[in-house]
Amino acid sequence: MERQILAARWVFPVEGPPLERAVLEIEGSRIAAVYQGEHPRAVDLGNAALIPGLVNAHTHMEFSQLEQPLGPAKPFTEWIRSIMKSRFTCTVPADQRIRQGIEESLISGTTCLGEIATSSESLQLLSADERKPSAVVFRECLGFTPDRIVEQQQTAADFLQLGTDLELNREVGLGLSPHAPYSVNPDLYLNLVQQVRDQGVPAAVHLAETRDELEFLSQKSGPFVELLSELGLWDPQILRDGMRLYDYLVPLAELTSALAVHGNYFGEAEIEFLKQAPQISVVYCPRTHHYFGHRLHPWLTLISQGINVALGTDSRASNPDLSLWKELLFLRETFPDVATDLILECGTLAGARALERSDELGSLTVGKRADLALICLPDDAVTDSGSDLLLNSRSYVARVMLNGVWIN
Ligand SMILES: [Zn+2]
Repeated sequence: MERQILAARWVFPVEGPPLERAVLEIEGSRIAAVYQGEHPRAVDLGNAALIPGLVNAHTHMEFSQLEQPLGPAKPFTEWIRSIMKSRFTCTVPADQRIRQGIEESLISGTTCLGEIATSSESLQLLSADERKPSAVVFRECLGFTPDRIVEQQQTAADFLQLGTDLELNREVGLGLSPHAPYSVNPDLYLNLVQQVRDQGVPAAVHLAETRDELEFLSQKSGPFVELLSELGLWDPQILRDGMRLYDYLVPLAELTSALAVHGNYFGEAEIEFLKQAPQISVVYCPRTHHYFGHRLHPWLTLISQGINVALGTDSRASNPDLSLWKELLFLRETFPDVATDLILECGTLAGARALERSDELGSLTVGKRADLALICLPDDAVTDSGSDLLLNSRSYVARVMLNGVWIN
């Protein structure tokens, strides 16, 4: 088997410091060596950086046809009304929308996805051939009133069964996504978590996304009650007293892996809990968070407490594109004091950990899959520090490699 030997001005292994003038050797689909130095047969990639393929831990491919985010961004329940309308009026076939999202993700450097799906289409597309990101596809389940419980439990069970029926290649895993506290009956929530627990697969839940959600849980009032009433779904008995955010987190700690998506309004109680529940990762969606104008996200506090923080784009309904690379640039610009290495780790290894793929993906480590992105660096930047150069606003994703093969 021919060995590929690549040399670049910078290599960011993520596990370990950036290496200047370094070499990456690939044998088949695996990383065989990473070191600082030269090699006589190396292909020189020039003024560029090699990084692990990016991991977008939270997205919904079904909205990938949208050219701009849906409005209004406030109040959040108005945006929910817009997304419901968009779902019912969209004329672009689902497979076309999802294909578009997969392609956009790949060319922007994302080689692994945490995808939330409302059908089995993205699962089938992602497991169709080699030239696809690896993924965990979470089936979204929604139903606030008790009459929906049996049907949604069955939908979830049928979806998990597909994992066996489709003989999925090991690039694609399955999970469930009970949508959010305001859209999932508490009994249904517990049942879905039980199902993923029984199967040993992960769950993803939108939690602590808005202040309105906190009011909904603690006071049983506010915009979510208005929305549910308007839809004829509100019954104060459904939301048992004492179901706090914290109570949605507790059952997740029993899973092999769970994603608490957003966590914009996690407070002390939740953070204390997360500190001793290493199976739960928080997924911060920086530009979506910004779009809705939330308070400062606690991601740095979470990380300082040892909690795994992955990154996501969320969907094109709240973000202008699906580029995780642009999330990294956005963080660089918004948090100039935060180390590039930390931002890069959130967008790679932390995402791989969240999706239970860190033994295979997320860093340029010998034995892991050769999934990576080639970043073109600006020629005229007045710095020699690789970390300063990498997330320069003029750096861009030039090429992407999957399983040891350049796809572009
Ligand atoms: Zn989402």
